[in-house]
Amino acid sequence: MSAPEFTGLTAVVTGGASGIGLATALLLASRGARVACLDLVPDGVPEPLIGIRADVSDDVAVRAAVEEAAQRLGGIDVLVNNAGIGAQGTIEDNPDDEWRRVFEVNVFGIVRTTRAALPYLRESRHAAIVNTCSIAATAGLPDRVLYSSTKGAVLALTRATAADLVRDGIRVNCVNPGTADTPWIGRLLDRADDPEAERAALNARQPMGRLVTADEVAAAIAYLASPLSGSTTGTDLAVDGGMSGLRVRPRS
Ligand code: NAD
Repeated sequence: MSAPEFTGLTAVVTGGASGIGLATALLLASRGARVACLDLVPDGVPEPLIGIRADVSDDVAVRAAVEEAAQRLGGIDVLVNNAGIGAQGTIEDNPDDEWRRVFEVNVFGIVRTTRAALPYLRESRHAAIVNTCSIAATAGLPDRVLYSSTKGAVLALTRATAADLVRDGIRVNCVNPGTADTPWIGRLLDRADDPEAERAALNARQPMGRLVTADEVAAAIAYLASPLSGSTTGTDLAVDGGMSGLRVRPRS
């Protein structure tokens, strides 16, 4: 039997202490990678994952954390830019500071981490970047204009960076999850007037009638990050229960 596909490779996952990021880090590790999780709160990251504290909205902290990850892992082959925060409201609802705060994490965070990791990725023979984008980049969702704007930027950034780095042998792709059952959605439901009704509405919005799982998104990220996907760059892969592509009749 051949060795798992990530054997001998190293990966950095931002937002790797929870939800999609943690599921991705564990999956990459199970397939042979050495993995560092950069997170605001990395304390609960289980072994063999390496937890490193970093706020992706702080350039100095990101540079130090990426440097530490590269030293401890022995290089960086795969970067998963997954850290992100949510925002609600219409275009009238949020002040400029809130727009800046969410862009600082969801967009500029990717810029900072990628910039810091690039010298290491250029040394790799299997370099790949996967960004966690969202269905919100490709579908108009109500009350999500700020969040959607950041994810639209992530989609454009992914394609443009893929073009810039293709001759360096670095592939750049993103995943577009639909609503995924992570602690993030748990917090959203906790704040709803009627959490059960809200969960039912979110389920109903997905053609499959259920939320996406973190493991399903992790599997898509691992696919894009894998050396087996060597011809895939500049793509966005929907993991959304059919939400972006299907037009089905409501369940009776
Ligand atoms: P989550 O809240 O479970 O995990 C996010 C992680 O990111 C947390 O560990 C958090 O500490 C970390 N983080 C937040 N801000 C950070 C910062 N400034 N610096 C470093 N780390 C930071 O959320 P999740 O649902 O797993 O979301 C992960 C990604 O998936 C996000 O980019 C999100 O936009 C995207 N996404 C989520 C869904 C969903 O429905 N859950 C759908 C589409 C896209």
